[in-house]
Order: sequence, then C-alpha cells, then structure tokens
Amino acid sequence: MAILVLFVVHWQLSVFFQSFFLHRYGAHKQFTMSRGWERAFHLMTYLAQGPSFLSARGYAILHRMHHAFSDTPKDPHSPENYENALTMMLATKKTYDGFAYRRVEPEARFDGGMPDWPALDRLSQSWIARIAWGALFVLFYWRFATHAWMFALLPLHFVMGPLHGAIVNWCGHRYGYRNFDNRDVSRNTLAFDFLTAGELFQNNHHKFAMSPNFAARWFELDPSYQVMRLFSLLGIIDMSGAQTMRYEEEVAPAE
Ligand SMILES: [Zn+2]
Ligand SMILES: [Zn+2]
Repeated sequence: MAILVLFVVHWQLSVFFQSFFLHRYGAHKQFTMSRGWERAFHLMTYLAQGPSFLSARGYAILHRMHHAFSDTPKDPHSPENYENALTMMLATKKTYDGFAYRRVEPEARFDGGMPDWPALDRLSQSWIARIAWGALFVLFYWRFATHAWMFALLPLHFVMGPLHGAIVNWCGHRYGYRNFDNRDVSRNTLAFDFLTAGELFQNNHHKFAMSPNFAARWFELDPSYQVMRLFSLLGIIDMSGAQTMRYEEEVAPAE
C-alpha cells in the first residue's frame, strides 16, 4: 500500500510542477508571481521531480521550439518525425541536454525570460545528488514493498519527468480528438486529464498557448488550472493579465 501511495503521489506532484512551473510559468509566462514564490516553486519542482528534475531553462527553450515548429521536421519531439516514443525521447534528450548543460546556444527568440537557477541545475545534474535520490527510493521500496512485482515500478521514479514528457508529446500529438485546426497534428487525448495534470489538452494548448486554462469546452477539465485558481485566490500567483480561450467564440463567432 505504501508503495502505491508513494508512486501515485510522486507521479502527481512531478507532473503538476512540470505543468504549472516549468511549462505554464517558465516556458509561456501565462501569469506572474513574486521572486520569492518563483524560487520557492523552483525548489519544490526539484523536490517533486527528484532524480529526473528538468532544468527550467532547458525545458523552456526546447518547449518554445516545439510550439514554433509544431509537427514540422524542425519540431524537437513530434511523433511525425520518429518511429516510436522511445526513439523520439532519446533524440529529445540529446537536444534538451545541449541547452540544459549550456553546451548549445539557442536562437535568441527562444531564450530569456524563464526562471534560471544555475546552482540548482548544477546540483540536480550532479551524480552524487542523483545517486542519493536513487538510494532514497531504493530504501523506501526495500522497507515497504510487500510483493516482488512492486519493484517493477522502482525505475519509473528515476525517469518520472521524461516519462511524462514522452506520454504528453507522443499521445498528445497522436491519439484523441481535435477542437481546432492548428495546422499541426495536436490532439486532446482525455477530456478530464487526471493522468498528466492537463498537459494532454495539446490541441487546445497549441491553439491558445497563452491561456492558463488548457480546457476549452464545457465537458473538459484541466486539473492544474483548478489548483492555479486557488493559488490566485490566495494571492500566490497573479492571473489578472492572462488570456483565456473560448471554444464557442472561436468555432461559432457571434453575429
Ligand atoms: Zn505539443
Ligand atoms: Zn506549451
């Protein structure tokens, strides 16, 4: 039981911080927050993702390229360009590493304006920190696993961030329904995305990249946006300047 709780909690926290902090705030700047909250959420993202923490700068550059080149040959991770999700993610890792380890200079238009904490990047990329994280998970499984099959879940903790990336980037541009013609192959995989915190509304998101709510129709529910509404109510983030998407107006404009 403890193993399943840990797995679900790690899954949900990791994908929430990826969606809320790295994606919606870091890459898109859909809303604002104070410098203090930015640092606090940056640290929480590291603690939530642990051994597979994604550099906010590397993530933002890669992701901005994905929007600019969606499903064209220059898209860093379109399923249109790869045989399967694994070959796509291996190629994505190579491009991401170039930016995350500051070996490759991005085009100027994809750089700047994202949370940047080089010391945290260096810590998270050190093998000492990765091995320490790994040891913590191994010890937890050693202590609490009650069935041998549970150990099959263990390696997933080490690649949680990229695993969510693979699900979103592969399924969100391959399976599901479309609300908008974005001139790419983006899709909404689930109408209530409990699996990846709203990230699987790729079709809506590619249409309205600056909307903090990834749901556009009455039956769609974006869980991260509901948490963000609470953060906004508490004064933690400011969404007053945010753009919203309206499916009805887009599809059937008022006379
Ligand atoms: Zn996409
Ligand atoms: Zn995006």
